[in-house]
Amino acid sequence: KLVAEHLNLWFGSKQVLKNINIEFEENKVTALIGPSGCGKSTLLRSLNRMHDLYPEARIEGQIKLDGREIYQKDVEVTDLRKRVGMVFQKANPFPKSIYENITYGLKINNLLADKATVQKALEEAYIWEEVKDDLKKPATRLSGGQQQRLCIARAVALRPEIILMDEPCSALDPVSTLKIEELIHHLKKKYTIVIVTHNMQQAQRVADKTVFMYLGEIIEQGDTHQIFNNPQHETTRNYISGHF
Ligand code: ATP
Ligand code: MG
Repeated sequence: KLVAEHLNLWFGSKQVLKNINIEFEENKVTALIGPSGCGKSTLLRSLNRMHDLYPEARIEGQIKLDGREIYQKDVEVTDLRKRVGMVFQKANPFPKSIYENITYGLKINNLLADKATVQKALEEAYIWEEVKDDLKKPATRLSGGQQQRLCIARAVALRPEIILMDEPCSALDPVSTLKIEELIHHLKKKYTIVIVTHNMQQAQRVADKTVFMYLGEIIEQGDTHQIFNNPQHETTRNYISGHF
């Protein structure tokens, strides 16, 4: 279970996350919504220590994975990122073959990287049938939607507990988007999923829980149906009705 408590984050002197308290429930999809710049990606990235890459970022508060603080010095970031996988807005397969895109991370994590494992990951990400005869082909030759499902397969191959997705469909056409939404429904049976989206219909289609952020704060969070049909805060009401 992943929990953030009293999380604050600054870039230099600018505070970007303000007293974030949130619990990501197992086998549920949580959607992070809110206007551009409100801190969705920053929150998502803090959950697997992506900010280690930004020396100007300063974090206070706690993020705990199964009760253990993830920013503790003795936490191995490679191990953390194996347990908490990330899928980005723009599909970013390695410039390698489809097959190697899956085996690369497996090898780094000292996991078995055989054909059966690769097949299983590709099947789990609903892409095996499309690529099974082309495993040696460069991943960059796949369509955008296929590349994104390959990136999901790459994350899934490591047997994570949590998968973070930052606007995974915003560069995709409607058909590829629906395929990924279907995939998310399937994946949540096994994983905890956090998805950032600007697409309000998508949030309602895929998310069990929705979190509305504004200016670095969580304004409101709860059951998706309730957030969209009976929001308690005026700012939430304005945002979801498009008055922003
Ligand atoms: P969008 O919907 O446009 O993706 P977002 O909600 O994901 O927006 P963030 O990317 O989390 O927003 O950004 C939150 C704030 O933090 C913004 O004001 C942004 O300019 C600032 N910010 C993000 N990354 C950095 C950084 N590395 N250094 C300084 N400021 C940053
Ligand atoms: Mg963002």
